[in-house]
Amino acid sequence: MLSAASNCIELMPQARFEMNQRRAQSNAAHLWDLLDAVTDPEIPVMSIWELGVLQDVCITHNQGSQAVTVVITPTYSGCPALSVMSQDIISALAKAGYENVCVEIRLAPAWTTDWLSGATKNKLRNYGIAPPDSTTCPQCGSECTKLISEFASTACKSLYRCLACQEPFDHFKSI
Ligand SMILES: [Zn+2]
Repeated sequence: MLSAASNCIELMPQARFEMNQRRAQSNAAHLWDLLDAVTDPEIPVMSIWELGVLQDVCITHNQGSQAVTVVITPTYSGCPALSVMSQDIISALAKAGYENVCVEIRLAPAWTTDWLSGATKNKLRNYGIAPPDSTTCPQCGSECTKLISEFASTACKSLYRCLACQEPFDHFKSI
């Protein structure tokens, strides 16, 4: 008998589908792979690709020189992590020999937590952060949790406390 989990079909938002298509059809697959090493400075286990921040990678050749354009969409407007991520992108590509890199910020469509896949949400939970669609305690799995503060370690997260195991935990806000 199949488990409930394997029967679950994940609905993918159009924007996330297009992101996946751009990567699958890209002529710069090795650059996307390199950028898998760039993570959210606030959630070091989460790559900018998994978060849905990395939108596009293009390589253009002009008179023997090559330029790379990386398009990213910030998770939350004004998120201070953005400039760190841009720097990390530039240095990851520089290490691989790409000196001419431009990071473009795309604000539309606006980033949404809907772009996180089920696997990414599980990864967040394992890291101790409750994913956007859940306020279940990531430590013990109890649903008896209480909002402590709208703002946790960063504006992107709120702080909860588990009433079962008493542990506080961050909840990734749904937007
Ligand atoms: Zn708990």
